[in-house]
Amino acid sequence: MNALIIGCSDGRIAASLDALQAAVATPDAQRFFVPGGILPLTRPGTERRVALECVREIVEEHDVRTIHLVAHQECAAYERALGGLGFDQQELLERDLRRVETLLETTFPGVDVRSYVIPWHEDGGVAGYGAAAPVD
Ligand SMILES: [Zn+2]
Repeated sequence: MNALIIGCSDGRIAASLDALQAAVATPDAQRFFVPGGILPLTRPGTERRVALECVREIVEEHDVRTIHLVAHQECAAYERALGGLGFDQQELLERDLRRVETLLETTFPGVDVRSYVIPWHEDGGVAGYGAAAPVD
């Protein structure tokens, strides 16, 4: 079954995205990686229209049945778009994931959409991204 992964282009989360793909999708799953991942799909006007057309192209060309949306904490694109990241980062990402889930499920009936967040950890001086965790 064909899948599409929508995530951020940030190279620091590449390993987490690869691990998620290995766990939930086929090795040849399609990828749409842009700054902020789902961010352009939450924006008004042209930005969302262009992003949605890219997703449509992939979904229709490759008969995609499942879309995995992956947001990540400490995202520079989000920080830039919002003018900073507050303590409610997780809440913000989950809200956007739900909005984009609804948008994509409405636009592409029959496509199953799932959401994940890649967390940022800072434990005793060791900082890095963890494994993508599913969002309800
Ligand atoms: Zn990012």
